[in-house]
Amino acid sequence: MAQTVVGVDIGNSTTEATAATIEPDGTVRFLGAALTSTTGIKGTTDNADGVAEAVARAFDAAGLRLAQLDVVLLNEATPVISGLAMETITETIITESTMIGHDPRTPGGRGLGVGVTVAFEELPRTPSGADIIVVIPKGVDFELAAHAINAACERGLKVTGAILGNDDAVLVVNRLAAVIPIIDEVSRIDAVPVGMLAAVEVAGPGQSIRTLSNAYGLATIFDLDAAATKVVSPVARALTGNRSAVVVRTPAGDVADRTIPVGSLALTGDRKRVAVDVSRGAVEIMAAVEMVSPLADVSGEAGTNTGGMIANVRQSMADLSGHALADVRIQDLLAVDTFVPQEVRGGVAGEVALENAVALAAMVRTRESGMRAVADAVRSRLRAAGADHVDVVVGGVEAEMAVLGALTTPGTDKPLVVLDLGGGSTDAATIEADGSIEAVHLAGAGDLVTRLIDAELGLGNVELAEEIKRFPLGKAESFFHVRLENGTVQFFEKPLPTTAFARVVTLGECAMNPIPTRHSMDRIRIVRRAAKERVFVVNALRALRAIAPGGDLRQIGFVVLLGGCALDFEIPELIADALAPYGIVCGTGNVRGTDGPRNAVATGLVASHAASPPAGASVGA
Ligand code: ADP
Ligand code: MG
Repeated sequence: MAQTVVGVDIGNSTTEATAATIEPDGTVRFLGAALTSTTGIKGTTDNADGVAEAVARAFDAAGLRLAQLDVVLLNEATPVISGLAMETITETIITESTMIGHDPRTPGGRGLGVGVTVAFEELPRTPSGADIIVVIPKGVDFELAAHAINAACERGLKVTGAILGNDDAVLVVNRLAAVIPIIDEVSRIDAVPVGMLAAVEVAGPGQSIRTLSNAYGLATIFDLDAAATKVVSPVARALTGNRSAVVVRTPAGDVADRTIPVGSLALTGDRKRVAVDVSRGAVEIMAAVEMVSPLADVSGEAGTNTGGMIANVRQSMADLSGHALADVRIQDLLAVDTFVPQEVRGGVAGEVALENAVALAAMVRTRESGMRAVADAVRSRLRAAGADHVDVVVGGVEAEMAVLGALTTPGTDKPLVVLDLGGGSTDAATIEADGSIEAVHLAGAGDLVTRLIDAELGLGNVELAEEIKRFPLGKAESFFHVRLENGTVQFFEKPLPTTAFARVVTLGECAMNPIPTRHSMDRIRIVRRAAKERVFVVNALRALRAIAPGGDLRQIGFVVLLGGCALDFEIPELIADALAPYGIVCGTGNVRGTDGPRNAVATGLVASHAASPPAGASVGA
């Protein structure tokens, strides 16, 4: 009699189930598949709820009743879990209320103004002939401000720019006899020093400033020598890309861009030990990881931020897995350079500078997971749900099952490399023509991409970052059309929601979601793609080098992408582009010709069970 089975893959993020019947002669008929979020930590009995849900849904899709279920096939999950941490390594500090980089929403006028700062009430008493920048406190009406500037100019004073406390720049400019650049919304206007040389720059709509964002531009304006230019270069860097900016030069004031001593990482390999300073950045950290490979463990310098960061990763991994802290070993590390917008210390208008940061993803190998216990829990859970005679079988190494499943993709054959792009880890497995299989598990995958997007855009909202990761962008230019990020336009018959108007939105499957930030569509797109590249292109190359014969990528012919991130609308392209120079054929898997990059492990479990039902490995009645 035919056996009704379901293969189940419990991943860190997703539990996938594939239902099938197996005839006595071994013929397999696949009937339905489903997926659900993994409940609890992979490899613990909490997984049973998610498994039961996925099995029930797969059976529903297949038109089967749970009472018909004979066997559940679980994989021997790779005992790896992953953790993330991020540490800022630079800090911009302003002393003596030097003001930099304020970029209000609506600056007024345009051009570059250079002059000495003068308080608004001093304007009538200021001798004519001088070039000045007027500082206008909150509470001064725009009519009055414009009138006073016009009067001063008539007197022969050269007012080259203005700094406003109110949000009135455009209103003031509209009333001036001659256009000058004006910055507004300066919250601590009283802290702007007077009697100092200053520059105000406002670019035209859609453009960014050119002079104050150029170190030599600042040197020209403030007459700086080489040493002083070096000191102010962080100012220029912090202003890059702004539409408007103001810089005040105070004699003792300073803007410093300092590297925070964050401590070092000690990387222990099987044969070597190397220490690397985290503030040296990702390239040097990754070179050290490669130098000690294979990595056995990582620790951070005690009493430093790095020490704290690694201790946190370890502790959370220990908590998650229920292991003693001493049993937690970091066996792979991915470092990524990133930058996070942070309010500048000492600023007067909430100035923000992009600080350098390093993000670390760590992969921890734990003691063998307790799949027996999971199997027992799944069995009682399913029996209670009506699968009254079900057996649960644990068998099949995850990587081998993934390869078997991937090979059901049309157009594939051995030898083959599978890249499983999951949430916490990037896993690679290779099958040779003779059927031998090798696997590696690397830290860093979809969750790290989400975290990078969240940090670089300063969102503080991981759900929104996930949404930005998954969907293309658009901008609602009118109530009836959206400009898509590829430049084309989509029209709508019904008016768009008012919340979306003039906003950058994500174009989700069923809804358009406005992104509540000031970032342009272009900037969000660049951040999104760079995050994907720095995680997945880097990891794809690392993984393939680790399993290619002799580390030579040219020895690899075919790569099949699997896992949730293979569903992404651009990650597969980015990887394929990076692999093309090595003559590698790379594409997204299509398991059984129907399921795309999903269900490979579940399918592999069913196929391997049909080929050789494992004896004595079942948890029966
Ligand atoms: P695991 O095998 O570790 O359980 P998955 O294979 O389910 O993980 O992959 C999870 C990752 O895939 C997450 O980072 C998630 O954001 C991403 N992901 C899931 N679905 C999609 C999708 N439709 N488009 C892009 N990314 C997706
Ligand atoms: Mg997986």
